[in-house]
Parts: sequence; structure tokens; C-alpha cells
Amino acid sequence: MGSNIRLKVAICGAGIGGLTCALALSKYPDLEIDVYESANKLAEVGAGIGLFPRPWKIIRALGLEQDLLRVTELGVTDGPVTSFRYRKGDQPWESADFHQLVTTGSLALLHRADYQQTLLRHLPRSCKTHCSKRLRSYSQRFSGTIELAFDDGSVAYCDVLLGADGLKSVVRKCLLGERARWAQSEGRYKEAAELQQAVDPVWSGTNAYRALIPAERLHARYPSHRALTTPVQYLGKRGYVLAYPISQGKLVNFVAFTCRHDLENTKFNGPWVSVTEKSQFMPYFSKWEPEVQAMLECVEKPLQWAIHTVRPLRSFISGRVALMGDAAHAMTPHQGSGAGQAIEDGYILATVLGHPKTTRDNLHRALRIYDEIRRPMAHRVMEKTRMNGRYYSFEFDGLDIEQLPPDQQWDFLQRMGKKFVKNWEWAWTTTVDDAVEEALKRLRHA
Ligand SMILES: Cc1cc2nc3c(=O)[nH]c(=O)nc-3n(C[C@H](O)[C@H](O)[C@H](O)COP(=O)(O)OP(=O)(O)OC[C@H]3O[C@@H](n4cnc5c(N)ncnc54)[C@H](O)[C@@H]3O)c2cc1C
Repeated sequence: MGSNIRLKVAICGAGIGGLTCALALSKYPDLEIDVYESANKLAEVGAGIGLFPRPWKIIRALGLEQDLLRVTELGVTDGPVTSFRYRKGDQPWESADFHQLVTTGSLALLHRADYQQTLLRHLPRSCKTHCSKRLRSYSQRFSGTIELAFDDGSVAYCDVLLGADGLKSVVRKCLLGERARWAQSEGRYKEAAELQQAVDPVWSGTNAYRALIPAERLHARYPSHRALTTPVQYLGKRGYVLAYPISQGKLVNFVAFTCRHDLENTKFNGPWVSVTEKSQFMPYFSKWEPEVQAMLECVEKPLQWAIHTVRPLRSFISGRVALMGDAAHAMTPHQGSGAGQAIEDGYILATVLGHPKTTRDNLHRALRIYDEIRRPMAHRVMEKTRMNGRYYSFEFDGLDIEQLPPDQQWDFLQRMGKKFVKNWEWAWTTTVDDAVEEALKRLRHA
């Protein structure tokens, strides 16, 4: 280890969270950064991603904006902009927009691979990314060093470990195991049991069917299709469909959700992610409006994602180890904010670890500040996105929309639209600046 290195940071997982965190940390020259990724090459899932003004401000601060603007279809503005149109889609005839989501600052729509490639291009050489390194476990030594053990039998060492290894995080499993053992040894048996229970993700009751549709194909079937030019959501009872253009308009990101909220927190039987057939979800949408039918006809080899979440954790840290992104707080995607929250985690972690006052001897204090600031926020977002999932599938006000006369249905939709926007406006009316300020203030006074 070079003598002018203040901290040796290991990041487990080179997804959106891990790589963004690596880039944010790389701005501090006295940190040594290694990213360990289980996959043999870095390749994001073939799907789109929407980023709201909160994470976009971070992206701007990290110098990624100009490169990303070249690959978005709709560009990004700071002023008021229509970010999504909402329609009731679950009837065979064409409906009308019942709501337009106007945000202050755009929802930036990207191909995940474009975001990942941009991040990789910006990472300095000093920040090393190691592929085919699947973490098996870690152990924290009294000396302060953490030993990382990988599946291939190799080991590595670091001062601080950031678990950015996603929904099925090994770091979370080790961290909760570690905390459960301490709780057990101190007679806190209930807490120990609760910690162990939080290791495994739970099914949200919702499945997502994702596909990228070539815009040309959709255009050929339905030249005036809204999703070719604008983000749109078609809502219905027990499910919804969203679609938006990405990759300079060459592709349309399509996601169909089927919702069984009554099965929330149960076990999903079957693979969580798999290539499937349209027949798996076509019956749900067969009587939906013509634009939905046109997209369904264009879908090929959809991926099924059984949406799982992580139960709210009591802490994201243990000793010199911290969880971030989906490893810490995997949430439902109904506010398009999971990756945004991972980006925020990475940025705040870089703020506390990059601070010159943070050393090997007081690392725990820096991580505690991260935990105290980020955990309540991530958990609030988790609950808000959960609620939007309810609203999008017409669970609202205890009313059954199908039992309402047409004029009351419209009123129901209008009120519901207002409700989910209110629930969501944190994503464009607030910034991460307050959290950064708070972290710096606490570091100064620590
Ligand atoms: C249908 C759907 C739509 C979504 N849409 C949006 C959206 O529009 N906007 C948004 O903000 N969010 C969205 N999300 C959420 C978003 O995808 C996630 O929150 C985000 O990808 C989490 O990033 P992450 O880096 O924490 O984890 P991941 O992206 O899962 O990355 C984890 C990385 O760790 C690696 N890894 C795993 N285990 C190990 C190990 N043991 N050792 C080493 N490496 C390991 C993995 O290979 C992977 O590269 C959506 C999610 C879904 C399911």
C-alpha cells in the first residue's frame, strides 16, 4: 500500500451503485479503490432506466452529463416538463390521458448499458475493476483490516468494504450474520432473530415483464404510437404497462407489471429473473387498449422479473463495512428510484470517506454518519414507491373503480393522479445538497 494512501476502499459489485460510488470516490486522490465484480465482463441488463433530477444533479457533479445527453432521446431540461402521461389502459377502446406528470427538471431516460459504459469511460485507471471475483465472505480483523474471500480461492484486503452487490447481496448476508451473533452474545435474542430474517429478500407480489422494442417495428404497426416520442403509462386493475423511448429513439423500453399486492412478503416459487414467453402475461393484457396491443405484438423474448425487496434494515453498517444500493434497500420500481437511491448512497459515502478528517482510526464514525443520513431517506422512498404501485393498479380510497359510473371513474382517476404525484414529488422538488451539507457538518463537529 502506498504511504500517501489514506484509505483502501473495496467495493463489491460493479452495478450502477458500485460504479457511481467508485467514480465519486476517485475524485479523492488519497483513496485507493478496487471494485470486485462477480460477472466475467461488465454488461448491464438490456433495459431502460429513468433518472430523476435528484440523482441527475449528482451525475452532473461527477461530470457525466454531457456524455449521457448524447444517448438520451428526450434531452434534459431544468424547467417544468411533462415527464409521463397517464391513461386508463385496461379496456379494448382507446382512452384519454387522465393525468400528465409535470416535473421540475426532466426524467432522464437512458439505456442501462449506455450509463454503465459512460461510467466506465470516466473511471480513472487508478481505480481498478476486477471481473470474475465473486465475494464469498468477509471477515473484520481486530487490526482493522478486512479480509475478502472470493469463490476462486483468492483473497484481498481493504480498510473499508462497501457492499454494492445488489438484491442477493453476500455482504448483507455476512453483515447481518455478524450483527446477529453480537446481538445473540449479548442476550438480545429477538433482535438476533430479526436480523437473520432480513437476510433473504421477499417477493413484492409483483412481476415485471421487460423488453426493448425496436422503434421501427412499433412504428410500422402503429405510426402515431405515443411511446415512440413520449413516456407513457397505461394503468389498470391488477397491473400496468409503461413505455418510453431510449437510445436516441431507436428503442422503446417496455415494462408490463402484473400485481398481486395481497401476496406481498411471500415467497416466490420459481426463478426470480428468466427469459419467458409473451403467453406468460398476454392474458392479463389481452383486452387492453390498442396501443398496448401494438406493443405486445412487437415484444420478443421478454425477461420476467419477480420483483423482490429487502426488509427495512436496522442499520446499513457494521464496523468498517457498509451496504449501499439494492444490497441495502432493494425497493419496488414504481417510482423509478432504486438506481437513483443507489447513486445517492454512493455520493454520500464518497463525501464521508473522502473527507480529510476520515482516517483508518475513525472510519466507523464516517460510516455512522452515512447510515444516519441515508437509511431514513431510503426507507421513506421505499414506502413511497410501494404506495405508487398500489395506486397504479387502482388500489385507492378503498373504492373499486369497476363499480363506479363513468363520470365518477374519471374523478377517481384525477384524484388518484394528484395523490401519486404528491407522493412522488420529493424526486424533483428536493436535492441531495441538504444531505451532503448535513454529512459535512457532522464530520466537522465529530
Ligand atoms: C423492472 C425494473 C425497473 C426499474 N427501473 C428503474 C428506474 O427507472 N430508475 C431507477 O432509479 N431504478 C430502477 N430500477 C431499480 C434499479 O434497477 C436498481 O435499484 C439498481 O440497479 C440497483 O443498483 P445496484 O448497483 O445497487 O445493484 P445491481 O445493479 O444489482 O448491481 C449489483 C452488482 O453486484 C454484482 N454482484 C452480485 N453479487 C456479487 C458478489 N458476491 N461478488 C461480486 N459481485 C457481485 C452483480 O453482478 C452486479 O453487477 C428498476 C428495477 C426493476 C426491476
